Amino acid sequence: MRYQKLAKLYEELSSTTKRLEKVEILSKFFEVLPKDDSEVIYLLMGKIYPEYDERKIGISNQLVIKAISKATGTEIKKIIHEWKMLGDLGEVAEKFTLHKKQSTLNSHILTTTKVLENLRKLPSLEGKGTVNKKLGIITELLTSADPLEAKYITRSLIGDLRIGIQESTIRDALALAFFKKDKDVSEIIQKAIDKSNDLVVVLEIARQGKINELEKVSLQIGKPIKAMLAQKAVNPKEGFAVVGKPCIIEYKYDGFRLLIHKNDEVITLFTRSLENVTAQFPEVVEYVNQYVKGKTFILDSEAVGYDKKTKKYTEFQAISQRIRRKHNIEKLQKELPVEVNVFDILYLEGKSQLDEPFEKRSKLLRSIVKDTPYKIIASKQIITDDEEKAMEFYNQALENNQEGIMMKKMDAEYRPGRRVGNMIKVKPEEKDLDLVITGAEYGTGKRSGWLSSFILSCWDGEKFLEIGKVGTGIKEKETAESGNVSFKELTEKLKPYIITEKGKNVTIEPKIVVAVTYQEIQKSPNYNSGLALRFPRFTALRPDKKPEQANTLKEILEDLKNQKR
Ligand code: ATP
Repeated sequence: MRYQKLAKLYEELSSTTKRLEKVEILSKFFEVLPKDDSEVIYLLMGKIYPEYDERKIGISNQLVIKAISKATGTEIKKIIHEWKMLGDLGEVAEKFTLHKKQSTLNSHILTTTKVLENLRKLPSLEGKGTVNKKLGIITELLTSADPLEAKYITRSLIGDLRIGIQESTIRDALALAFFKKDKDVSEIIQKAIDKSNDLVVVLEIARQGKINELEKVSLQIGKPIKAMLAQKAVNPKEGFAVVGKPCIIEYKYDGFRLLIHKNDEVITLFTRSLENVTAQFPEVVEYVNQYVKGKTFILDSEAVGYDKKTKKYTEFQAISQRIRRKHNIEKLQKELPVEVNVFDILYLEGKSQLDEPFEKRSKLLRSIVKDTPYKIIASKQIITDDEEKAMEFYNQALENNQEGIMMKKMDAEYRPGRRVGNMIKVKPEEKDLDLVITGAEYGTGKRSGWLSSFILSCWDGEKFLEIGKVGTGIKEKETAESGNVSFKELTEKLKPYIITEKGKNVTIEPKIVVAVTYQEIQKSPNYNSGLALRFPRFTALRPDKKPEQANTLKEILEDLKNQKR
């Protein structure tokens, strides 16, 4: 297929903000999409591989600017100037390609296959000369592109398509294209997406119009799967109202989610962002090998840090650096040990457990995990229909330095990636949020040279909306091992993502997620979310979360409502 056709589709999709229209446009496109071009569906999501695949395009703005310069014969200075004016590198590329096209004639025809092929070369490049090779690959594409193509190649490269397409838009378009928009079908397609994490697999089955084949899509060990998420309640009483009585109650451990896959000899560990962190946690691999029976399984768990001297659980922040660090793993492993608390099982010996009731899954996992404190244990739990008992357990969890409790519906299936009411978290009044840094201001005096005040944004399902500014909770001096980050560290982390600079103010691509506490939420015209956080304070980086996993506007409005109560 010609890439131009896809570029026109992107353009058409961005011409409307109405979801339903987008679904219709996409659905028509799917109806006529040739079989050989199924992989175009990845490009539609701004991706080059299925969701479960870690390889990402990962190209910096700077490199794209160089490529635009080479491909269009425009000075870099001029490109940067234009970028500041337009705020979108895609439009910049479009504009300069248009200028070029008036003087030179280019006869190359770009296909989607060629674009995918070149983009897929990027993540695997490593070592010497990488930057130049990447530059060559991108420049080749941009040189062959017409203005509209250049716009969308550029936007794909920097991971910002701006066409307002979610996975759910694609889901509904598939339902409309091949099943004439049956609501139940949308749900079945969603399940197939959640289990396979691969839109091509789902597209190819949907195209045949066979619902029962879609229902057969199953998990595969070794391919990461999205974790089921929790809804929130303010107390056990409200929790019972959602999950019913009796229910299973567990500690809500304050660590990070770890999905453990074992396929014979091979053990793989994934975070909730589907990131493979096996290399960072060699001891966990060993615990799984030693203390969990079974040849093939997928377990869901929370890894929690504990103090090596007092053996008390520590908060997430203390161990968060273990997720990203690739060096000195052995040293880190000794200093910041983790205990794995297993709470669910998704697959065992060739059989998916997703549709089994939670009560049964929980028993099953207890039959294969040999509790070994400070290494790996099945999560602590009670079964009760009694509010007082639930409250007692809740207090006990808090005394043990944990975040609260999880109340789980006994007969619930496991829904990968869904925040359905199968589990409910109850924790003390929610006064912290995970937000994304989307802008900042350079400091003065002691802080000059560093970014010192950071604009925080929440996610509204399609875009990021500003909600406050934070400057406290960050350290002046660089810290050695654990603890909070310094202004210097945070500045260095954010620098590669700076989009525009105007005086002291910069806008930043939404990439870095941070946890903040706050005292109050207010309605406010100062930010485009319509809300403002009062006295926000930085508490931690959240390297385990993607920007789209930040708190949503809806959740924060809910907090505002609870606050009023
Ligand atoms: P929060 O910041 O409250 O953890 P979140 O968006 O990170 O919110 P949620 O899905 O809302 O995540 O809360 C559930 C999280 O709690 C799970 O993702 C998991 O990491 C953690 N957790 C801790 N203990 C348990 C448990 N026993 N069962 C399920 N999840 C648990």
